Amino acid sequence: MAFEFATAGRIIFGPGTSKELGTLLTQFGKRALVVRGSDSARTRPLLASIEAAKVDHFCFEVHDEPTVEQVAEGVSQARREESNLVIGIGGGSVIDSAKAIAGLVTNPGAILDYLEVIGKGKQLSVPGLPCVAIPTTSGTGAEVTRNSVLASPEHKVKVSLRSPYLLPCLAIVDPKLTLDLPPSVTASTGLDALTQVIEPYVSIRANPVTDGFCIEGMRRVGRSLQRAFEQGQDLQAREDMALASLFGGLSLANAGLGAVHGFAAPIGGMFHAPHGAVCAALLTRVMEVNLRAIRERLPDGEALRRYELVAVILTGTEKATAADGIHWISELCKALQIPGLRTYGISEVDIPELVEKAAKASSMKANPIVLTRDELTEALQAAL
Ligand SMILES: [Zn+2]
Repeated sequence: MAFEFATAGRIIFGPGTSKELGTLLTQFGKRALVVRGSDSARTRPLLASIEAAKVDHFCFEVHDEPTVEQVAEGVSQARREESNLVIGIGGGSVIDSAKAIAGLVTNPGAILDYLEVIGKGKQLSVPGLPCVAIPTTSGTGAEVTRNSVLASPEHKVKVSLRSPYLLPCLAIVDPKLTLDLPPSVTASTGLDALTQVIEPYVSIRANPVTDGFCIEGMRRVGRSLQRAFEQGQDLQAREDMALASLFGGLSLANAGLGAVHGFAAPIGGMFHAPHGAVCAALLTRVMEVNLRAIRERLPDGEALRRYELVAVILTGTEKATAADGIHWISELCKALQIPGLRTYGISEVDIPELVEKAAKASSMKANPIVLTRDELTEALQAAL
C-alpha cells in the first residue's frame, strides 16, 4: 500500500465560525481580492467582518461556472489592486475561481500556459497568493481540493488547472451559511456530495484515510440529505451535509473519482447544466452498470464488497445488498425531484461524442472497472 494525503493548511468547521473571518485573515495579508457570487446578501456579513479587521478589499463577481477568460480578468484585477490575499465566498464555482486566481497571480505568462488539454499544461512554478475558502453550498468540497475546473466555451470543454499550490491555506466551513439555500440547490449539490463520497470509496485509488472520510460522509448524507431538502432551516441536517461535502473534497483530492465525474466533465463543457444536477442524474445509472460489469469481470475483487458496504451504510440495514443501495439512492433522487439529462438539452444524438470524451476523462481512470463503450452508452442513455 502507498498513498499521499494533502489538504488545506487549516480547516475550521462549525456553525458561526465564519464570523471569525476578519480576525483569521490578518495573518495572511492586508489587501484582499474577494471573489463572490451574485447573491450579495449572503456575503454582506462576511464583508463586514473583513472591514472590521481593517483588511482592504475589492470584490470580483463570478456569476456562473468560471471560464478561462473570467479567471484571467480576476488575475488582472488582483495584480492591478496589488492584492496579497484572495478570499472565495460562495459555491464550488466561486471557490474554484478564487483558487485559480490566487495560483496564477504570482506565476508568469498566460493562463493557457498552465491548462491541460487546451493549453501547454505547464506546472505552476511558484506558490500562489494565500487563498481563504468559505463555502456557502454543501456539494463540491472545493475548499480542500487542489484543482480548479474552468470552462472554455471556445473549445466546448471544461479543463482543470491542477497544482498542490491551489490548496487553500484556510478553509472555513460554516453550516449556517447554507440554511437559506433553495431546495433544488440543496438537492443537486447534496447529490454531488453523495457522489463524491461514493466514487472515491470504490475508486481503484481508495486508501485507508479517504475510506474513513467516505464512510462517515455516506452515513451523514444517508440520514440528512432528504431532511435538509424538506426542512432547510434544520441546522443539524445542514451540518451533516456541510461535513459530507468537506469529506468528499478530502477524499476525491486524494483518491480520485469515477465514471459519474468522467461524464460530468464533457457534459459540463458542451451543455449549460449545473455540475451537481448532472452527477445526480447519472449516479444510479453508472452504479448499475458498474455493478453488473464487476459481477461479470471482477467477481472476486474488492469492489463488490465495497458496493455492498455502501448499501449497508446508506440503508442502515446490515443485510442490504449492493442492488438495495442503488434502489435507495434512486428513491432519494425521486424524492428530491431530480430531472433527467434531457432537461439540459442533451439527447441521443449527443451520446457518441460524450461517450468518446468521457472514456478519456481523467476521472474515468479511477473507476473500479474499465467500462466498455457499450456500457458507457447504456449508462448515459438511461440517465437522459
Ligand atoms: Zn462533483
